[in-house]
Amino acid sequence: MQKVYDIAIIGAGPAGIATSVESVIFGLENIIVFEKGENHSETIRKYFDDKKPVDKEWKGIKVDLKGHINFEAGTKDDTLNIFQKSLNEHRIDAKFATEVVSIEREGELFAIETNTNEIYKAHNIVVAIGKMGRPNKPEYEFPKSLKEKINFNISECKGNEKVLVVGGGDSAVEYAYFIREDNEVTLTYRREQISRANPKNLNNLLAAVDEGKVSLKLGVDIKSLVDVDGKCEIYFTDETVELYDRVIYALGGSTPKEFLSKTPLVVDEKGKPLADEKNRNTQGIYVAGDIAGSLGGSIALALNHGYNIVQQILQARA
Ligand SMILES: Cc1cc2nc3c(=O)[nH]c(=O)nc-3n(C[C@H](O)[C@H](O)[C@H](O)COP(=O)(O)OP(=O)(O)OC[C@H]3O[C@@H](n4cnc5c(N)ncnc54)[C@H](O)[C@@H]3O)c2cc1C
Repeated sequence: MQKVYDIAIIGAGPAGIATSVESVIFGLENIIVFEKGENHSETIRKYFDDKKPVDKEWKGIKVDLKGHINFEAGTKDDTLNIFQKSLNEHRIDAKFATEVVSIEREGELFAIETNTNEIYKAHNIVVAIGKMGRPNKPEYEFPKSLKEKINFNISECKGNEKVLVVGGGDSAVEYAYFIREDNEVTLTYRREQISRANPKNLNNLLAAVDEGKVSLKLGVDIKSLVDVDGKCEIYFTDETVELYDRVIYALGGSTPKEFLSKTPLVVDEKGKPLADEKNRNTQGIYVAGDIAGSLGGSIALALNHGYNIVQQILQARA
């Protein structure tokens, strides 16, 4: 007989980690966690700069933590260590390098298929896959030849470059600020004002602008990006043209619609998964973290989703 898990958790970011930790704490130990990366918290590892202060009130969203993971503002390493410690303490051994590719409902159970061609069975599914597996891209085409020079985070920024950061949210503002000392940085945003960033990030950016370390190009969009001798030539809607060594897009992430279409999740007209205030999608299926919200999420929100879901599953079993 094949083993049937109580809960299959897809994604080991903050939401998936919280769901697994709270499950074990509340006595639901028959769980399995799938993570497509080699380690937990892929988004944090890939998109957070090492120097970045990790905010508890990200985007100004104040959240009272409900669960047992004591997440505090700190560094990237502090945050990863908190999660690692929680996973160790509760002996949660995620299946790393294992991407879930489809889910099927089979009566009372779900069959979960992985990229390793294995099928796992579970009574409940928690989809906690975040949105940063698919960073948002503009509509214009990128020349393939500039693949290395067009990025979605600053990990490839090694200094001494003329860099354009595109976006008006906290990620864009942080990226421009973090690379300002070693590069010539311009931040461009299609609106006249950067209104989406939190005050701390905005103040940092404006101070860097005052010091001449970051230039702003606001109220303009980009029409196209072409390869000129291995550099990125940008055509702006104000008819200016500028050459950059590197362009970094910080436009957030989008719902992985293709994946969702291979699952029984109920989605709205825009292809986003439905989630009620208790993170339920449909019978036996829950969504947690960034993928559960229409606006951008936060680590603290993701942790609370994990707690909520475990309470729901316990109630459904009672
Ligand atoms: C640049 C940047 C800075 C940020 N700074 C902050 C901050 O300071 N404070 C804060 O609170 N928030 C911050 N955020 C937001 C925060 O990172 C997210 O809200 C949080 O990571 C969401 O957690 P999650 O578990 O929903 O998703 P994620 O953290 O994205 O985790 C999803 C996990 O699922 C895995 N996965 C995806 N698809 C599959 C699949 N099919 N099978 C198996 N595994 C899969 C991924 O590899 C990943 O590990 C920041 C975001 C960015 C981009």
